[in-house]
Amino acid sequence: MSAVGTLYVVATPIGNLQDITLRALEILKSAHIVAAEDTRNTSHLLGHFGISARLMALHEHNEQLAAPKVIAALQAGKTVALVSDAGTPGVSDPGSLLVRTVRAAGLPVVPLPGPSAVVCALSAAGLDAPHFLFYGFLPSRPASRRKALAALQALPYTLAFYEAPHRIVETVDDLLAVLGGAREIVLARELTKVFESIHGCKLADAPAWLAGDPNRQRGEFVLLVAGAPPAEKEEIGAEAQRILSLLLAELPLKQAVKLAAEISGEKKNALYDLALQLK
Ligand code: SAM
Repeated sequence: MSAVGTLYVVATPIGNLQDITLRALEILKSAHIVAAEDTRNTSHLLGHFGISARLMALHEHNEQLAAPKVIAALQAGKTVALVSDAGTPGVSDPGSLLVRTVRAAGLPVVPLPGPSAVVCALSAAGLDAPHFLFYGFLPSRPASRRKALAALQALPYTLAFYEAPHRIVETVDDLLAVLGGAREIVLARELTKVFESIHGCKLADAPAWLAGDPNRQRGEFVLLVAGAPPAEKEEIGAEAQRILSLLLAELPLKQAVKLAAEISGEKKNALYDLALQLK
């Protein structure tokens, strides 16, 4: 049996075509088939780099039907490159189902890293937070959107959303309504393009900023919102601290905490945290 082909998952630019990687160009040039979300868009991209490739359509409405064709091509030893309209396939874009099917068939899948709007926005946002949660697109219906936001409200991670221009105003209004005005938001618009802008402010000020100039509502957006602030630590009274220290010197931790809570009336959880620090 001849060697099987590889499915390459190829990230492409999110605006500036110079952001294509050398490796992406090499694979797009040599692939037998380029599976593209929109073949017209991808022909423009390939044309710009002087690449002529055999294109097949692979989008959210035909991914299931197209997957067996890709598998057949790979089994026949062909190389297939998967691209989406912009950025990384499978990230708020089609591709995951194909990748899953190919992997399940035991065929090789190789990722070619490159642009993705969320990482691009994070890199220039300057939010001083070690973790983020990538949500992608919120639901388009207001009630579902608010419900989705309510489920994220308590998370202490930067929240990253994608949004389209026709919904940016209502989405920012809902972010404010559900998450409150005190958090920082960064609106990263048209990244890598001519009218790129990255604006940071308090959520309370974001609706007025958007309303301040219609151009600020145009284009593609990544919205980054600071996570929930850490819950205030409960203060433990000096007397309760003294009791806990005395008991800890004589008893195992759990027993000391239990007794200290009974004697002082302070919450067990708070005393337990303190006991861990004192030990
Ligand atoms: N797969 C892409 C990626 O890896 O980023 C995302 C594709 S998703 C269908 C398109 C959304 O990504 C846009 O609505 C916008 O929220 C975000 N996006 C894409 N390009 C962008 C850009 N140049 N600037 C800001 N956001 C962008």
